[in-house]
Amino acid sequence: MSNYDVVVIGGGAAGLSAALVLSRARRKVLVVDSGTPRNGPAQHMHGFLSRDGLPPGELLAFGREEVKGYGGDLLDGSVTELVRCGKSGFWVLTSDGQRVFARRLLVATGLRDELPGIPGLGDRWARDVLHCPYCHGYEVRGMQLGVLGGSPDTVRYAQIVRQWADDVVFFAPPGTLTTVERSEMVARAIGIVEGTVKRILIEEDHLCGVEMEDGRTIRRGALFVPPRFVPNSDLLVGLGCDVDEARWPAKDSNGQTTVSGVWVAGNLANPRAQVITAAGEGSAAAIAINADLVDDDVQDAVRAFNLGF
Ligand SMILES: Cc1cc2nc3c(=O)[nH]c(=O)nc-3n(C[C@H](O)[C@H](O)[C@H](O)COP(=O)(O)OP(=O)(O)OC[C@H]3O[C@@H](n4cnc5c(N)ncnc54)[C@H](O)[C@@H]3O)c2cc1C
Repeated sequence: MSNYDVVVIGGGAAGLSAALVLSRARRKVLVVDSGTPRNGPAQHMHGFLSRDGLPPGELLAFGREEVKGYGGDLLDGSVTELVRCGKSGFWVLTSDGQRVFARRLLVATGLRDELPGIPGLGDRWARDVLHCPYCHGYEVRGMQLGVLGGSPDTVRYAQIVRQWADDVVFFAPPGTLTTVERSEMVARAIGIVEGTVKRILIEEDHLCGVEMEDGRTIRRGALFVPPRFVPNSDLLVGLGCDVDEARWPAKDSNGQTTVSGVWVAGNLANPRAQVITAAGEGSAAAIAINADLVDDDVQDAVRAFNLGF
């Protein structure tokens, strides 16, 4: 059994960034990571100042080395359960049967992207089926782009994607567009294809179009699809942290949850966070955690002083 000041669950940008700050603050830190960062399927990561275009795995490999360089420990595996231990501590149980003690926890387990059930979408995910124009819009700029409608805010999403190409088609389920939305799209020359999408079409390992249920095919070079974001919050729920109806954790501006001693950062705390944002939120949470530990250390020191130790 090992004791840590902080165990970080999830070693993506958020978790590793927190671990770096905490290990540089001379805290004993363990990062447990199961190795499936959200942007893992993408070949390149964009928009991270000074690291634009780096393969996502390389950023994390650099981060792991930096954490190790300051004495942080890394464990490959999954955390299966978190259990409160005493007034201010936790047991962390891992998939390989280890039990580790932590004074504080940072949960940075990210989210899962659930795609609509259209055949072929999953196979092309992060290649030519995309969701984030800020991540990969530049790489498909000027191409024939499609935007899959049907979920909340997709009309606005199509207007944003239009920033990257003149030829954008919005696939609208029948009867879903309002008159205003339709006129706004027409005004910015966004094509509207109404109907039900049957499947995407692939030629020579490239997306080449979309086939509709009524037999029409619309040629496109890339398709923007809004996934449903599902938080990886089971561990928090098990610990008794408050979550909303979609299981997103309640938290304050530094990521402190409703259970004392437990913080969240990155996509688990903020589904809109880019890599650089997730890293920043991990850093902010780490600084708050260290301050909280210092408060405990002061109380312990005062008690020991008064007892004459
Ligand atoms: C296809 C795609 C491409 C993207 N491209 C970009 C881009 O170019 N630029 C950009 O800024 N953003 C991009 N993003 C967004 C980016 O992925 C997120 O901003 C970023 O991954 C959030 O970091 P995170 O640390 O919160 O979560 P993650 O990176 O998802 O890391 C969470 C980690 O927690 C681990 N984990 C989960 N559960 C457990 C458990 N129980 N025990 C132990 N470990 C666990 C996972 O294995 C994972 O390693 C992209 C997203 C997608 C889907």
